[in-house]
Amino acid sequence: YSHILFPATASGKNAAPRVAAKLDVGQISDITAVIAADTFERPIYAGNAIATVQSADATKVITVRSTGFDAAAATGGSATVETAAAVADAGKSAFVGREVTKSDRPELTAAKIIVSGGRALGSAEKFNEVITPLADKLGAAIGASRAAVDAGYAPNDLQVGQTGKIVAP
Ligand SMILES: Cc1cc2nc3c(=O)[nH]c(=O)nc-3n(C[C@H](O)[C@H](O)[C@H](O)COP(=O)(O)OP(=O)(O)OC[C@H]3O[C@@H](n4cnc5c(N)ncnc54)[C@H](O)[C@@H]3O)c2cc1C
Repeated sequence: YSHILFPATASGKNAAPRVAAKLDVGQISDITAVIAADTFERPIYAGNAIATVQSADATKVITVRSTGFDAAAATGGSATVETAAAVADAGKSAFVGREVTKSDRPELTAAKIIVSGGRALGSAEKFNEVITPLADKLGAAIGASRAAVDAGYAPNDLQVGQTGKIVAP
């Protein structure tokens, strides 16, 4: 394969560098546009500038910011989809359990509308009092700045930004 792509999610960013290292190629991270087969755009400096990167590697290992692209059509296309058999368990780690936050709200990373609160709200009570009804009215996801999360006004999984979730409302 000439191009191996992963979404720029926690699990994609976990696997892609291992694949790139095994192939001894550089990883092309976080692309938001494809210019040519070897040339891509990606945000740098926390999104304040866009870099155009070109790779001379034979195999391109790429992580993709999926919010930068339109969804692919669910039907059509000619590529074959193959199911790979799972490899044997190395026994080095075990799945213990999973606690998923349940919410009727849109998922933050996919939301079209986001109401995000910051430090100015002053407390968790005020955050909920001001942000929640507005988000309900707008059918919006709720976000928070890092400052608001650090101050305990909002839970960590609401944090938007460089060290939080990448959003594209
Ligand atoms: C390496 C690094 C990574 C970071 N990553 C992230 C990230 O991923 N996400 C993120 O959000 N931040 C991140 N930050 C932090 C970021 O730089 C800002 O500090 C933070 O986002 C500011 O949050 P804020 O707007 O809630 O607070 P502030 O900057 O404190 O802004 C509060 C604003 O509210 C106003 N205000 C205060 N009281 C009131 C009031 N009563 N009524 C009306 N207005 C009022 C103030 O005047 C001010 O303008 C990062 C920082 C670093 C160094």
